[in-house]
Amino acid sequence: MKTDIKSLSLNELKTEIERLGEKAFRAKQLYEWMHVKLARDYDEMTNIPKSLKEKLRESCTYTSLKEVTVQTSKLDGTRKYLFELADGNFVESVWMKYHHGNSVCISSQVGCRMGCRFCASTLDGLERSLTPSEMLDQIYAISRSTGERVSNVVVMGTGEPLDNYDNLLKFIQLITDENGLNISQRNITVSTCGIVENMKRLADEKLQITLALSLHGSTQEKRQELMPIARKYDISEVMDACRYYFDQTGRRITFEYSLVGGVNDTDEDAENLCRLVGDINCHINLIPVNPIKERDYIESERKDILKFQNKLEKKHINVTIRREMGRDIDGACGQLRRRHAQSITDES
Ligand code: SAH
Repeated sequence: MKTDIKSLSLNELKTEIERLGEKAFRAKQLYEWMHVKLARDYDEMTNIPKSLKEKLRESCTYTSLKEVTVQTSKLDGTRKYLFELADGNFVESVWMKYHHGNSVCISSQVGCRMGCRFCASTLDGLERSLTPSEMLDQIYAISRSTGERVSNVVVMGTGEPLDNYDNLLKFIQLITDENGLNISQRNITVSTCGIVENMKRLADEKLQITLALSLHGSTQEKRQELMPIARKYDISEVMDACRYYFDQTGRRITFEYSLVGGVNDTDEDAENLCRLVGDINCHINLIPVNPIKERDYIESERKDILKFQNKLEKKHINVTIRREMGRDIDGACGQLRRRHAQSITDES
């Protein structure tokens, strides 16, 4: 099997280069072309000898995502990208411009097997996990396309990152490497539906990344209505894992709570939520649900969202309503890729 060269750490690349009978300093040059200059191909690498490029083409694959479409929001400049992978699969990523810098939301898998009821990414199940280089290159391709530096990364696109643990960790190592893009760990957020053993494993890595937990229900019953994974892990175990993450890393937990009209947005829901997170150092992100046509969930009314927020604030819980970026270019997670897949099917 060929080596995935963009997924190698600098040290691993050195070993690979020496194995090919080349001098170690070439590894540093190659690494810089891939991870700093963001080269799309060996052809761009002007100081690498032709003979080495040929050896590399034979023994390695070079991940370079192909931009299929990009939609730009007229409201806030948010851009949604659809990329094609080498095997013909598609992933989507989002670029958002904030006052504090540019943020990219990446996918961690092609499809997803977690089955959350309101989410478009999971409707066709999991196709496969992404490699570290396929996660990286979403950021690299967007960086090249916008010509701007990316300062924040959120792993909140399609897929469950903690269902692709080893590749996720490798990706984090590479994106935060001082010899690469050198993005600060503190500017990285990983969002999970709550795979307890991997939340604990991640805590034990003692990284400075933010862990976001998709809660969406404030009791075990409500949560498992919306999230099948909740049947495997009781809400109390999930909350314990969040406490453990904070204890190990000192990083405040983010809870994501998508508000679904008439389902989880009542006064009682808010009160239960206050009780549930009461002793945890956290921040709650309320997300008005983005309705998908395959399900009949609806967005909560504005007044109910504000009331819900107000109830939490009264208990001194940090809470924000997520600004809805790129509303005009449509799309809950996974909708873009899905629409594209369906248009191909319709054509054939
Ligand atoms: N698998 C990870 C990342 C998923 S996407 C996780 O479960 O956290 C990031 C967030 O968007 C999650 O909280 C997810 O539950 C939420 N989400 C997905 N589809 C949504 C929709 N249609 N409306 C609102 N939030 C949605």
